[in-house]
Amino acid sequence: MDTILTESKKNTVPLVDGAQAARCHLLSEDSLRRMRLLPTSPPVARTAEENGSFTYYFDPNKVKEAPAGYKYGKKLSDTAPSRKGGHAAGEIRRISARQAAAQGLYPKEVLARMYYEPTEAPAAYYIKKSGERVELYDRAACRRLPLPCAKCGGEVRYRAKLCRSCYQTELAKRCAAGDKKRTAYYGMDRSRVLFFDLELTGVYDHDEILSVSIINGNGETVLHTLTRPQRQKRWKRTEKIHGITPEMVKNAPTLADITPQLVEIFNNADRLIAFGTSTDFSHLRRIYNTRDERDRMHGKLLDCATEFAHYVHEHEVELTHLSLTDAMTHFSLDWEGTAHTSLADTDACRKVFETLFPHYFESEAM
Ligand SMILES: [Zn+2]
Repeated sequence: MDTILTESKKNTVPLVDGAQAARCHLLSEDSLRRMRLLPTSPPVARTAEENGSFTYYFDPNKVKEAPAGYKYGKKLSDTAPSRKGGHAAGEIRRISARQAAAQGLYPKEVLARMYYEPTEAPAAYYIKKSGERVELYDRAACRRLPLPCAKCGGEVRYRAKLCRSCYQTELAKRCAAGDKKRTAYYGMDRSRVLFFDLELTGVYDHDEILSVSIINGNGETVLHTLTRPQRQKRWKRTEKIHGITPEMVKNAPTLADITPQLVEIFNNADRLIAFGTSTDFSHLRRIYNTRDERDRMHGKLLDCATEFAHYVHEHEVELTHLSLTDAMTHFSLDWEGTAHTSLADTDACRKVFETLFPHYFESEAM
C-alpha cells in the first residue's frame, strides 16, 4: 500500500501553527501548486484552519518539478507518495484475481473470514466476469480482529486457540492427567534405570562425542569416560562450556573403542533417561549396526526435559527457559560438583527426574 495517505496516517502528521511552518520554510499545498512542484514524501506538518480543515506542509527538500501539463488533483496531501513510492490518489490499479492473491490483496469479505479488517483505502481492484468491481485491500495494512475460541466459538481467544475459560478447563484436565502419570508407582529397578549425558564438540550431527557419563538410579557411576574424537581436533566454542580440552582427550579411547561396553550397558537397562535426548540419540544411534538395535535403544529413552516442560506448562510455572539449571533451581535441588560437567549434569538429571516422578522406583503398597 503506497499512494494514499489514509485518514489515520494523516492524523499522525504533527500539528503546528502558521508562523512555525513559515519559520521552517515549509511549503503548503498552495505554494507547491503555484511553483508547479510535487512532493516526493508525505506532509511533515499541518495547521488547523478555522473551518476545521487542515493545511498540509511539505519539506522543501523533498519536492520535484511537476511534469509538463501535470494536472493537480484536489488534495496534494493525498498524492504525495509514501516511502515505497507509487501511484497517485484515486488511481488504484486494476489487477487480475491471481495477481491479487500473489500480492496479498484481498476483498473485504475474504479478509473478514480471515479475521482481518482493512484500515486503509483499497490498493487495487479487479473486475469479475459479471462486470462487478471488487476492491482489494492490503492484508499487511489490516487490523487483526479478535479470534473466537476454537472450542466454544464464543469468547475471544486467550491461549492455544481457546478462550480463557476453555483453556483453564483443558489445562485442568491435562494437569490432572500429568499429575496422575507423575505420581504413579512404576516399581522400576534402580540399578536398571540409567541416566546419561554426553558432552559434544558441537551441536551438529557431524560433531563428535567428548565424554560419556552414565549413572544408575542409585546415583552410582556406571561409566564415566572421555572419548577422543576421530575427525575434529579443536572445539573452542564448546570447550568454554564443558571444559574438555584437546589435551585432555589425547589418550582417551575413541567411541569405537568403548562401543561394545556401551552397547552392553544399554542392553541391560530398562530405561535410559537424559535431559534432552534427541541430540544425544542422534550420536548414540551410530553405535548400533542394525535398525532393530537402534529402535530397541530408542524405545528405552525417556526425555527428562520434556517431562519437566509438561510439568511447567501444566502447573503454569512462570519460567521462560527450561534448562536443567532452571529445573534444579525451581525444585531447590543441589548440584554435585560443577554444573555442565558431564557427571554433574547426569546426577542433576537424576534428581530432577526423581522429583518429577517421586514413586518411579517404588511399587504401590498392597
Ligand atoms: Zn471457549
